[in-house]
Amino acid sequence: MEHRFDFLVIGSGVAGLLFALKTAEHSRVAIVTKKVLTDSNTVYAQGGIAAVTSDSDDFELHVRDTLEAGDGLCDESVVRTIINEGPSRIQELIDLGVRFSQLEDGRVSLHKEGGHSKRRILHVQDLTGKAIETALLRSVESHERITLLEHVHAIDLITNRKLALRGHQVEANGTRILGLYGYDSLKEQVCTFAAPAVMLCTGGVGQVYLYTTNPPIATGDGIAMAYRAGAEIRNMECIQFHPTALYSGEERFLISEAVRGEGGTLRNLDGHAFMADYDRRGDLAPRDVVARAIDSEMKKAGTRHVFLDISDKPLAFLKERFPHIHAHCLGQGIDISREPIPVVPAMHYLCGGVSTNLCGETGLEGLYACGEVACTGLHGANRLASNSLLEAVVTAHSGAGAVDAYLRRNPDRLPDLPEWVDGNLQDSDERVILSHNWDELKRTMWDYVGIVRTTKRLDRARTRIRNLKREIHDYYWNFKVEPGLLELRNLVEVADMIITCALQRKESRGLHYTLDYPEKMPVPVNTRLGS
Ligand SMILES: Cc1cc2nc3c(=O)[nH]c(=O)nc-3n(C[C@H](O)[C@H](O)[C@H](O)COP(=O)(O)OP(=O)(O)OC[C@H]3O[C@@H](n4cnc5c(N)ncnc54)[C@H](O)[C@@H]3O)c2cc1C
Repeated sequence: MEHRFDFLVIGSGVAGLLFALKTAEHSRVAIVTKKVLTDSNTVYAQGGIAAVTSDSDDFELHVRDTLEAGDGLCDESVVRTIINEGPSRIQELIDLGVRFSQLEDGRVSLHKEGGHSKRRILHVQDLTGKAIETALLRSVESHERITLLEHVHAIDLITNRKLALRGHQVEANGTRILGLYGYDSLKEQVCTFAAPAVMLCTGGVGQVYLYTTNPPIATGDGIAMAYRAGAEIRNMECIQFHPTALYSGEERFLISEAVRGEGGTLRNLDGHAFMADYDRRGDLAPRDVVARAIDSEMKKAGTRHVFLDISDKPLAFLKERFPHIHAHCLGQGIDISREPIPVVPAMHYLCGGVSTNLCGETGLEGLYACGEVACTGLHGANRLASNSLLEAVVTAHSGAGAVDAYLRRNPDRLPDLPEWVDGNLQDSDERVILSHNWDELKRTMWDYVGIVRTTKRLDRARTRIRNLKREIHDYYWNFKVEPGLLELRNLVEVADMIITCALQRKESRGLHYTLDYPEKMPVPVNTRLGS
């Protein structure tokens, strides 16, 4: 079955929802999302959104903090534009109904997080992402030019080039987007979506690692799809491990950096506050420094976690500032007002992704990317805390203008698209291969491509991941598609990209730290794949 739209947005996190709202002012837009609308990284965001909104802050300071965290790989003009645009986009969120937390005197409450020289994180208690997502959904759901398609799992982009390779008569200059194949999990069938332009807002890749703060949807689908379509991918080795995830079973619930911003102290199991031994900024050093310090303390003492202690603050303060964290920990038997919280680092955020400019334009005609899936140059080699929601709202705004101009320049000239062909494929009866490969992939990435890397471990990981890739590829072409298989195929592609980029970078910079090249190269360069 073929569906036609002016524009397709894949993903319903902050980037996809805000972008769709803006684009719908001129076009008919469909949002395709693989589960329900609220399944996203966005709803998990606790700390908040960074922007210069107080008289005691300064745009130059926010720029400087971002460049310092990014360790030479940021694009300074992108950094300046995004930071300068922050206050206007915050006002827009307020106009859409986001009620940022206020102090008793009515001023907005600003948190401080690692790497920030000022208090500048606007937040809604410790549920900021959920508040933003709820406000955006209210507007999106009532918009007459937006069609919402839940439970549709984007499989692959349709391009003129792919069709030409399969012998279809299409104009084949350059690569141009024509639509998308998506698997409808409720109807259990693949649908064809024709659209002259597609915005990827598919979020991050957390599920490629064994332990992550990301929800199950974070399987790198957009990056893998863009790569297969021929787009350029950058800096995939720059994986941010959040230093403080709750240590409990398999789950890695985030303990926001704002807890350290409010005085929380990291201690080893002997009770020693160790961060001052590693960095002059102590507990508020940037995330890469803190994550490596924790890793080193755990390795030195052979322990499975360290502690984050905020028990000197009154219960009323903790319940007011961190109600979600307080309640979650209590549910796990930890009263944070009385005892320290056991924490470990966990995979949290991808700084690399699909190369785009500030408007979300990739190198392919009609393909755009925005949010965590994209690499604009804001984060460089290490994201400054709470800059990602900021990046998503600023680029969703500028992207809408660019897409509108593209659609005006290219009035609908879509050919008829071929239907997806399933052939004689059978339902998979070998699901154990999926679960086994899924486990092996995550374990390999965790053990060999973690916080501290070596060339030998990366080589070992590459051999294993390439074997898995071959096996999963064979499986993909032999069995009927299903969401688990689609995600695994994308994860193994993403794992390969992370390792390949990590092997390209023969230095330690930002989040990429290797014992074989502990120094920085004199000139910072982006690692690149594809295109
Ligand atoms: C625990 C946690 C806390 C965080 N805290 C903060 C914070 O305080 N401040 C901050 O700035 N950032 C924070 N971040 C990061 C931030 O939340 C994300 O970077 C941001 O929300 C990403 O938004 P997005 O719209 O790009 O992607 P997401 O919100 O992840 O949305 C991606 C969407 O794409 C859909 N999708 C994916 N693949 C497909 C497919 N194949 N087909 C169809 N749909 C698909 C998903 O279902 C989802 O709807 C945090 C992240 C986590 C996990």
